[in-house]
Amino acid sequence: MGFGYRCASGTRYKCNVCGYMVETSENWAFYRNVKGRIKTHMQPLCLSQWAMEAGVKGYYQSAYCPACDRLRKVITDEYETPRFESDKHKWFDEFVALIKKLCNGEPSEPSVERSFEHTCPACGGKLYEHLDKLSCPRCKKGLFKMGDHWVC
Ligand SMILES: [Zn+2]
Ligand SMILES: [Zn+2]
Repeated sequence: MGFGYRCASGTRYKCNVCGYMVETSENWAFYRNVKGRIKTHMQPLCLSQWAMEAGVKGYYQSAYCPACDRLRKVITDEYETPRFESDKHKWFDEFVALIKKLCNGEPSEPSVERSFEHTCPACGGKLYEHLDKLSCPRCKKGLFKMGDHWVC
């Protein structure tokens, strides 16, 4: 949920022993090509002609599987029909509906850490968006430490 397009952002994690670096990221806008495959929009979105013409079908994030030592795409949102920057008013309606829902007795405590429960499509292992203190699969001695954070 949001107003207008979202900005991609990412965080780099580095092993404190061997220096191996992994970068997880989120809010990658995508569209689907004629074969239905996910294609990443250029970021920032305002520069992407496809974002203007094909719209945004949804967003994915890139999460890490330590067992495979690979990044995996996890779709976090996918819309029935592609969205365009000009659809802002629809998004606003959704926002108002959500606020109404929250005000109707549901606990409104803000959850700082949203739960991230996804498994690797290849090995079935747990995927991680935060790698802090996760053991490094390369040297098997070190731990990942959070490094740079970027926003497109
Ligand atoms: Zn390491
Ligand atoms: Zn895996």
